[in-house]
Amino acid sequence: MSRSEALREDARAMQGELAELRHLLHRRPEVGLQLPRTQETVLAALDGLGLEVSTGTSTTSVTAVLRGGRPGPAVLLRGDMDALPVHEETGLDFSSEIDGVMHACGHDLHTAMLVGAARLLHAHRERLAGDVVFMFQPGEEGWDGASYMLAEGVLDAAGSRVSSAYGMHVMSAMNPRGQFTTRPGTLMAASDELRVTVRGAGGHGSAPHLAKDPVSVAAQLVGDLQTLVTRTFDVFDPVILTVGLFQAGTKRNIIPDEAYFQATVRTFSAEARDRMREASVRLCESVAAGYGLTAEVLYLEEYPVTVNAPEHAAFAAEVAAEVFGEQRYAPKVYPQSGSEDFSRVLDAVPGCYLFLGAAVGDDYADLPNNHSPRAQFSDDVLSDGVLLHAELAVRALDRDAATG
Ligand SMILES: [Zn+2]
Repeated sequence: MSRSEALREDARAMQGELAELRHLLHRRPEVGLQLPRTQETVLAALDGLGLEVSTGTSTTSVTAVLRGGRPGPAVLLRGDMDALPVHEETGLDFSSEIDGVMHACGHDLHTAMLVGAARLLHAHRERLAGDVVFMFQPGEEGWDGASYMLAEGVLDAAGSRVSSAYGMHVMSAMNPRGQFTTRPGTLMAASDELRVTVRGAGGHGSAPHLAKDPVSVAAQLVGDLQTLVTRTFDVFDPVILTVGLFQAGTKRNIIPDEAYFQATVRTFSAEARDRMREASVRLCESVAAGYGLTAEVLYLEEYPVTVNAPEHAAFAAEVAAEVFGEQRYAPKVYPQSGSEDFSRVLDAVPGCYLFLGAAVGDDYADLPNNHSPRAQFSDDVLSDGVLLHAELAVRALDRDAATG
């Protein structure tokens, strides 16, 4: 039996245990950087494989190193483990048992798939031309868990810097079940936050000339920021700015002292991000000043742009098509406007991030999207996710051993 056939058979044989593990994780979701029960579950699932396992000091991350049968470089596979503050409404029999917390982004599948990949590659370790680092990461959902793991040395866990890194994300809608997709270059947006406090002087609503009305200036800024985006940024290097929170005032006839809003800013290149950081702050400050008010503006950086090295995106596409057939891989035409802290890994080492369709129905486009309280992810993709992880690692090691 060829190596690929053996991997495929062993991955398929895991389907039942992977679904069980996934359901266990799904029933007990945890949010943020501290996921003690999830960590315990992962450690138990890896137990007995003889991996070099270490746990995070600042978070509940788990790093596991598998030594291959032959010396060579090391590659990294990553799975995020955290859930969301969402109250589950799927009605599934393995629904969340924690009120107000749900694996609504499918990270329970990611965790189970990475455990599966560790088990599968362990069973085939003699054929590995190097080592594999398994990165079980907490806090992807806005907590920047990846940066804690990077600071604690995950990229060097095998003793030398990993030569490449791969990860994937399941999608409840948007892709047909079982379809892999990615693209070279920018895959996902950078995500930043803009916080604006417009300070004026409160007064009587009937006499605005005796006050300095922060509400009208802040409201104007909401529109002006859209004008900034459409009039000064290249449409082919897009920017998205959404004001999702706006707070001011207590009563219709009282002009308050302050108005406050928050926006999320998504950019798709480092250049657009740099420009937006500068331009949005300048606009808010100068428009407020124009009316004799002040604006205190904070531009907070969250996640950078997720960029696939072109040769690694081509490699991942080739592996997916070879292992599962051409019809199971679709090149992704446009980047996605979500963001990902795997971007931090891909900033440090080359690699590729992919999406895997996990829709439970065939009319995938109509299904509730990731983060919805009704989002569902099919167990059916688990063993294929494991197999792709494993094939990426095996082939990347062969490739990097030959070149490096
Ligand atoms: Zn996610």
